[in-house]
Amino acid sequence: MILMLAGAPAFAHTGAVPANPSPSPSASPTTQAKPVEFKLEKLSHHAYCLYGRGGNVGFLVTDAGVVVVDDQYEEVAQGIVDQIRSVTDRPIRFLVNTHYHGDHTGGNPVFIKMAEIVAHDSVRPRLLEYPETINKTFPDRKQRLQKEIDAIQDAADPYRVALEKDLGLLDFMLKSALGFDPAKAAPPIVTFDGRMSLWLGGEEVDVVHVAPGHTDGDSMVYFAKEKVLHMGDLFFNGIYPFIDTLGGGSARGYVTNIDQILTMVPPDTKVIPGHGPVTDVATLRRFRSFMYDLIGAVETAVKAGRSKPEAVRSIRMDQYPEIKPTYRTLGNEIIAIYDEVAAAR
Ligand SMILES: [Zn+2]
Repeated sequence: MILMLAGAPAFAHTGAVPANPSPSPSASPTTQAKPVEFKLEKLSHHAYCLYGRGGNVGFLVTDAGVVVVDDQYEEVAQGIVDQIRSVTDRPIRFLVNTHYHGDHTGGNPVFIKMAEIVAHDSVRPRLLEYPETINKTFPDRKQRLQKEIDAIQDAADPYRVALEKDLGLLDFMLKSALGFDPAKAAPPIVTFDGRMSLWLGGEEVDVVHVAPGHTDGDSMVYFAKEKVLHMGDLFFNGIYPFIDTLGGGSARGYVTNIDQILTMVPPDTKVIPGHGPVTDVATLRRFRSFMYDLIGAVETAVKAGRSKPEAVRSIRMDQYPEIKPTYRTLGNEIIAIYDEVAAAR
């Protein structure tokens, strides 16, 4: 999720995750330590997944041009174009941003020169206005969090560990927002709510927004003829997801989105997650079960009158050993869900 940047929380690689799954929730940082190593995977006759740095890129090649889903960071965007050029010389016609996070939209300034950028209605204001909100509100938020951390003596306490990770995330978002220039943001110029379709070279591309999940402007993109689905960050394969509650996200929305998309795609669909390796519908269903069960465990804790720290200290999800912590611990998930569940009561 988080790009290696001074002050960014450390990201622990897991064997299950190719390349660097680094969903940074804000504007594109400007420094990179190493050149990116791309890995291109052909998924069907005309659809590909490209792993690089940041969110996974999907693209569809048609006779009438190329549709790209997500564009990682500005620094690697030309590399993404070159990778697409290695399989086709057709023009890049559309770029879909699955949500506003900088590791999925950072390449927009490069792609805007060649493609129409499409996203849910919420993505445009998030890209243009949210950095200012972060600048105004996050310093106070950080202070409050730091106080809460300081009040817990035991450095190994899972609740304290989770709060420290949240603090690191706020810090990273603030650093990214400080350098943000709205004139260079290249936000989407075609926005929609609900659903839209792109028709290109005999292919149908469905762009679907159901409900706030990872953020308040998530899209899932389905290449219908190819039976290839890009979930954006509504699916992290093999790692705990990030529920961007400050960006309008919702844990319950994750389940709602997955349930809805599963009614639209056949069981042999190939699934590109926002982060982690390409997989199948069965693994997406398993991730949905993980979210559902975790929400259920938190609901039980809230109903039993347990506090948030108590919930973090007591809930385990050992029945899902394949879904691992990275820069997010289970505690971070529980904190986000606890607030959502408690607010709804
Ligand atoms: Zn994201």
